Amino acid sequence: MRIDIFTLFPEMFPPALENSIVGRARRRGFLQVCCHQLRDFSPDRRGRVDDTVFGGGKGMLLAAEPFARGLDALSEHLGQRPCVVYLSPRGRVLDQQKARELAELPALALLCGHYEGVDQRLLDEYQAEEISVGDYVLTGGELPAMILTDAVSRMLPGVLSDQSCFQEESHFSGLLEYPQYTRPEVWRGRAVPKILLSGNHGEIEAWRRRESLTITEKNRPDLLAKFAQKKEKG
Ligand code: SAM
Repeated sequence: MRIDIFTLFPEMFPPALENSIVGRARRRGFLQVCCHQLRDFSPDRRGRVDDTVFGGGKGMLLAAEPFARGLDALSEHLGQRPCVVYLSPRGRVLDQQKARELAELPALALLCGHYEGVDQRLLDEYQAEEISVGDYVLTGGELPAMILTDAVSRMLPGVLSDQSCFQEESHFSGLLEYPQYTRPEVWRGRAVPKILLSGNHGEIEAWRRRESLTITEKNRPDLLAKFAQKKEKG
């Protein structure tokens, strides 16, 4: 899969893209990520990319043309238009299902907004999907683009050593993950639940399932309700 990121701050990305699982996925050829400086596509000689907002209002808006030039150059290079995502607090909040869907695409272009955002006509012209990383406002789309890239890359076949790594994690099945423990068996007077030391895999599975349901009910009753609805539908 290939991900192209258009941003005013490409220098923010290397630490997130060169380390850990994303870095390994890139080195092993499962994922190609290219960061583009938006100013390089500015029609203005000084690289200006923003302007004031029509109708008034504080702040500046990123113009459509620099992003459009970048996307057109990318489409020409790829021989096809990539799926375009604009990271935006207005968007649908990113979840595991969306990350899985995006991981099936051959190419994805991520647009990082800044200031007040971007000219709406850009989003309409390229049928950009708006994706949010949560109901709060960040300064720019760079951190959300890193989050999305990370979430998508671990869904790519071959990136994690074993599919069960993510299939057992929070959100994959619709439930949150059960508690986990490592050595020592007793830490500061707190013992590991006995069942986990029993070697009885059937009972361990059942315990984990119960714990998943309990923690989901406690922390995210909304997810539990959705999970129950899905189960009912079959
Ligand atoms: N005026 C915009 C609004 O009210 O929707 C907020 C602009 S925000 C200060 C600047 C940029 O940060 C946005 O264009 C977007 O790319 C990014 N951004 C901020 N919060 C985000 C979030 N929760 N999810 C994804 N992107 C976000």
